[in-house]
Amino acid sequence: MYKFDNKCLSDKDMFFSLCQMARQVDSAVVIVNPKKGYSIDYVNHVFTRMTEYSEFEMTNAKLSILHGPLTDMLNEEAIQNSFENGLPFNTSSLYYRKDGSAFWNDVQTIPMRNQEGELQFCVLVMKDVTETMNIEALIELERDVYFNLENGTQLDDVLGDICKKVSSTFGKKCYCSIVFFNSIDQTISFYGQFAEQLTAMRQHLLSGNYSGEQLFLKQPIIIKDIQDSPFNDLYKQLLMENNIQSFWSQPILSTEGIVTGLFTMYFEQEAEPQAVDFKYLNRVAPIVTLAVKYVEQQNEIVRLAYYDEATGLINIEKFKRIMNRYVATGCEGHLYIIEPGEYQKIIELYGRHGGDEILRQIACRLQNLSMFEDSVIAKYTNSNLIVATRKTIEELNISQVEIDAILSEPYYVDNKEVYLTLKLGTSNFSAEVPFSKAILQADTALCHALKVTGTVIKKFDKQQVAIVQEEMNIFAQISKGLKNSEFFPVLQPKVNIQSGEIVGFEALARWNSPHIGFISPAQFIPVAENSGNIYKVDRQIFKKVLQWQKQRLQEGLTLYPVSVNISPRYFYNPTFVESSIELIRAFGIEPKYIIFEITESIELVNMRRAKKIINELHNYGIATSIDDFGVGYSSLGYLQELPFKEIKIDKSFVDNLAEPRMNAVIKTIVDLSHNLRMTTVAEGIETEEQHKELMRIGCITGQGYYYYKPMPIEEVNQLLATK
Ligand code: C2E
Ligand code: CA
Ligand code: CA
Repeated sequence: MYKFDNKCLSDKDMFFSLCQMARQVDSAVVIVNPKKGYSIDYVNHVFTRMTEYSEFEMTNAKLSILHGPLTDMLNEEAIQNSFENGLPFNTSSLYYRKDGSAFWNDVQTIPMRNQEGELQFCVLVMKDVTETMNIEALIELERDVYFNLENGTQLDDVLGDICKKVSSTFGKKCYCSIVFFNSIDQTISFYGQFAEQLTAMRQHLLSGNYSGEQLFLKQPIIIKDIQDSPFNDLYKQLLMENNIQSFWSQPILSTEGIVTGLFTMYFEQEAEPQAVDFKYLNRVAPIVTLAVKYVEQQNEIVRLAYYDEATGLINIEKFKRIMNRYVATGCEGHLYIIEPGEYQKIIELYGRHGGDEILRQIACRLQNLSMFEDSVIAKYTNSNLIVATRKTIEELNISQVEIDAILSEPYYVDNKEVYLTLKLGTSNFSAEVPFSKAILQADTALCHALKVTGTVIKKFDKQQVAIVQEEMNIFAQISKGLKNSEFFPVLQPKVNIQSGEIVGFEALARWNSPHIGFISPAQFIPVAENSGNIYKVDRQIFKKVLQWQKQRLQEGLTLYPVSVNISPRYFYNPTFVESSIELIRAFGIEPKYIIFEITESIELVNMRRAKKIINELHNYGIATSIDDFGVGYSSLGYLQELPFKEIKIDKSFVDNLAEPRMNAVIKTIVDLSHNLRMTTVAEGIETEEQHKELMRIGCITGQGYYYYKPMPIEEVNQLLATK
């Protein structure tokens, strides 16, 4: 559009045509006259609007009138060269308006020659591209910020960088700083220019009105002259010492729209922002917000990946990372996996949050123990904690006393007191025992600790693995054994202590597996209990007992009451009473020939249900016996509450008959049960002394090797045949 036919126009005609055209375009146009030392002959209306210089002011002036402190003079030389060479040229220059404000100017020089090739005029077409330049600079800034954050640069450094980049790319000479306030913990942090000085005086700033009301307006704060501003005197003084006269602050909003900080640009002169500058401020602040948000999200991701939300403890992933670092530096030490014995009960009573709360409190108390100082504590599974100490085996001193110390005071869930026992499984890690293996071993040790009552510390030893393997083996075979009816009863006679006469039998389960051979009930009963198979074992024994009695009945022989052991789990099964009655009926046996023995350690928590079941059995004619009385949760109180027909005094009491205190306890139990019309049976009688002492005390029935060992059914038949 600037090309036109200039066959042989005189300078005057050419000038006239150029001015004509300049009046019609919407770009700023300047006509420079090479014959007048490159001074300006004409500027159009767009130019005067852009620079606020009038046509009169510009005429005969030089282009240098637009130069200012940040104008790139090399670039200006290049423009001058293009005039002199008469070659077209295009560039961007930072120019200054009449009022001193800077703008980016896209400058295009067009030489105008006549037919002889003589340079007549230079036309400069200009455009204010400040906004585009700003946007480009901001886009680049944004990219840098993300790139740096992504590559692990710390937020502090990134914020400092933002300040530096803005100062170096912004049109006017300026300094930048970022400040963040945290209204929750009343902290304030500074980045960029003056950060150190501001940090040093932050206490005073907080008490002053630096973070004043203006902030909540979410509007830029424009201070043309600090001296008249309402800010803290210390702050003003700092700025004045640094020759700052004015500043612009743009509030930094969180993504929720709350003012969390300020982005500030400081100027050495009085500076008033133009529309483009407001736009600029408006665009810089969100970059800061996004940088912060990005870092917060990264931190959140890390937190979610490495922390257990419910307890605030680190999780096992983080724990493993820390441990790998330990081990890599040749550290040796010990691992503990710690579980409250009452975890399941706490869950039942208070829900999952109760369990988490307890683990959190345990972790707190563990940290204060000398054996765990300098240790790492993490949440392991739902129900336990894992702790690693760097103490070596020699230094290690697992102290039950120390553990007990953190248990003497109650724990609290929902303001209720909770007393705990702890189970600790421990193992060591070293160059020989890799960390992952140590965890497995501590877990194995914990499983063994969990089987013991009270607070226990179990160290890992290889035998535990063997035991577990055996348990797994038994577990695998139990189902087969049940299907193939491999479980059978042996019968141990119960005798009248006074007369020695056989008054009944106890059926004791035996299992001879074709795959793993003979397994003692002490081994398979707990495995069957844990695998939920125990009621099937009980039932198989019960059936075989009924079968024996049916056979004797058919053969017209005398029947004896037989005690059948019933596991607590089966006892509380809703179908237990009904299905037992059905079975007895099916075999056509009178109920008085069956006694159900229930272990006393059923922890008769379900007192009311236990009472109901016992009464239902009695109503049908089946007697009940409380087994192993005196072990664990023994209480004479039970006897009054629960209408058992028989009480079996545990072997451990019988073993200690010679001890006067024990002797007195047994005497009391015997007397009390007689008053309650219960039969007393002493178990595990092995010696004549025991037999005599029990006779003296008045115990009615006895059972033990002293009289008879448990016998296979055929032997029992023979024994009874001789009587
Ligand atoms: P328990 O019910 O207390 O049975 C008594 C145990 O003491 C039996 O061990 C018996 O053989 C043993 N015993 C009897 N007299 C003496 C003695 O004078 N000295 C010694 N040292 N021991 C004696 P066993 O047969 O090994 O049974 C162990 C436990 O397994 C039983 O203790 C019972 O709790 C459980 N059990 C056995 N059979 C069954 C069953 O069919 N169902 C259930 N749920 N548990 C059973
Ligand atoms: Ca028993
Ligand atoms: Ca017993």
